[in-house]
Amino acid sequence: MARIVFFTGAGVSAESGIPTFRGKGGLWERFKVEELATPEGFAKDPAKVWKWYDLRRKIIAEAQPNDAHKLMALIEKEHGDVWVITQNVDGLHRRAGSENVLELHGNIWKVRCTACGISYYEFKTPLEEYPPRCRECGGILRPDVVWFGEPLPPGVLEKAWELSRTSDLFVVAGTSALVYPAAQLPFIAKEGGAYVIEINPESTPVSRIADEVMRTTATEGMKLLYRRLKEGRYL
Ligand code: NAD
Ligand code: ZN
Repeated sequence: MARIVFFTGAGVSAESGIPTFRGKGGLWERFKVEELATPEGFAKDPAKVWKWYDLRRKIIAEAQPNDAHKLMALIEKEHGDVWVITQNVDGLHRRAGSENVLELHGNIWKVRCTACGISYYEFKTPLEEYPPRCRECGGILRPDVVWFGEPLPPGVLEKAWELSRTSDLFVVAGTSALVYPAAQLPFIAKEGGAYVIEINPESTPVSRIADEVMRTTATEGMKLLYRRLKEGRYL
């Protein structure tokens, strides 16, 4: 059976009201990445980093999956061998019903203890204290997400690589395709023979290797893609 892989980034959640990092209105315009999304920034001021994460958790808690998330989940139901590889930490793909989801950069609802190492889901927002403390040992908790300069969780990149290499249709949606190693995946897919489609209102490094570019939003692009899949256009 033909394999479909959706490779998604912050742009897919933009229409759910969750700000992207880069691009117009992106979070990096207003915040300093090196203070908020690096191990060094956290070591220096964990409370500040947690306040920022708690703000994002609140925005995400109030957001709903949009038609792009929902159509990816529907295509999985209808087609079967469908995977979502996401850089998003918001968990909206699963909330929309996708089951085969690979979270490259972790999940904003998970916390990890910097002292004893356990990780668990903590859905409370706002948090009671900054930084929050481990329920087991009282150590300082950090968000269980991948920060700049940190490696991806063990095994995750290998799995993403394999899925990309063996995909037949590879859809890159809402990512600036600048953050490595994730940004390599479209190129791996292309080398493996996949038909590559990009959905993004702006041009990215993937645009020039894509077989097809949809210069539109994730929801509009997914509606078009869904119709074309039904017509048997890609597989
Ligand atoms: P990014 O912010 O670097 O890029 C966002 C991309 O989305 C841009 O190319 C932009 O043109 C495009 N975009 C904007 N609106 C769109 C729309 N309506 N439809 C389709 N595309 C749209 O995001 P990234 O590439 O995901 O990489 C940065 C990192 O940001 C990731 O590691 C991720 O963990 C993190 N992040 C996650 C979230 C989230 O979980 N929702 C939000 C912000 C950032
Ligand atoms: Zn602990």
